[in-house]
Amino acid sequence: MSGKDYYDILNVPRNADEKELKRAYRSLTKKFHPDINKEEGAEEKFKDINEAYDVLSDRQKRAQYDQMGHDTYTSASKGSYQGGGYGSSGFNADFGGFGDIFDSFFGGGSRGPRGPQRGSDLLMRIQISLRDAVFGVDRDIDVMHNEPCTDCGGTGSATKKTNVCPRCGGSGQERRANNTPFGQFVSMVTCSQCSGSGRIPEERCKTCNGSGHSRVKRTITVNIPAGVDSGNRLRMEGYGEAGDAGAPNGDLYIEMHVVAHPQFSRIGDNLETSADITPAHATLESMSTIESIDGRKSDVKEPAGVQYNTALKISGEGVRRRGRPGDLLVRIKIAIPKRLNAQEKELYEKILELEGKKESGAGSKGFFKDLKDKMK
Ligand SMILES: [Zn+2]
Ligand SMILES: [Zn+2]
Repeated sequence: MSGKDYYDILNVPRNADEKELKRAYRSLTKKFHPDINKEEGAEEKFKDINEAYDVLSDRQKRAQYDQMGHDTYTSASKGSYQGGGYGSSGFNADFGGFGDIFDSFFGGGSRGPRGPQRGSDLLMRIQISLRDAVFGVDRDIDVMHNEPCTDCGGTGSATKKTNVCPRCGGSGQERRANNTPFGQFVSMVTCSQCSGSGRIPEERCKTCNGSGHSRVKRTITVNIPAGVDSGNRLRMEGYGEAGDAGAPNGDLYIEMHVVAHPQFSRIGDNLETSADITPAHATLESMSTIESIDGRKSDVKEPAGVQYNTALKISGEGVRRRGRPGDLLVRIKIAIPKRLNAQEKELYEKILELEGKKESGAGSKGFFKDLKDKMK
């Protein structure tokens, strides 16, 4: 889809609440629904609206979207899976509010019988270093992926032929009668024999036990975008549990855990580190060389008289998010020397002597004298 912002697509402010979102979504989908609006581009617009609503109506996705920005979020959520982006299966499978819309158009009940079910989503947690979180990284991970069984071509049948399910007659549904004190209630449930597909294998495939799919270990590359933080999730479409025959797999969500770094910490988009300098450095103007998290060196000038814990800023050496990187803050720590050579000792003594003269001039002795006088 275009690089348009989801909030702009739904024409709502960034702080819109759930109700506002839903209202905007309903009125826009009615306007652009392909069954109603035959204008060119309406269908595309309809998809955009649904995609925007899908993300913004989900609290977690929305938080991630707000944090990562449109481009990063959309590229991250597609992952590197080659099986199709949002327009294909994401459009059909990931459809939170669609039932509502159909109900309001056709007076309800028009969704048809429950078809084969999409597979469940899975969650996987991975650890990444702070450096990788700052710059983004491609990470290869091993997953168990559900793929069509090669022996039966995904049919579940050793002969590759399937027959109409005798139990449900191919509808995938069966009636279940429940007897209660108030009478008999009949409900439609997924057929127990064909699991909703409406067909059964002519001869059950032994490799996949008739399921039509097999679990295969695959290595996939996850494109972790710059700026991710602990708790952020990336979606790998189609890498979840297998769906019923004829239904898509679920998705795999990969949750990041950023490991603490010994020298750098992250505060929003800024990184923070510290530099030890000597009292003489702190007192006089001086230069220090600071290494950024990826080992590049920058020189920082410490102004004369810099105080303990002052943060000096190196612009653009922070977290690379949304193309506008944060800064690196260098906290000044003053390392007091524990050992002095003869010359240093002499010089410090000299400074102390000068300070002593100043102090007596400022009247510190006078203060104690005053105190003694008062206590008398
Ligand atoms: Zn059946
Ligand atoms: Zn098979």
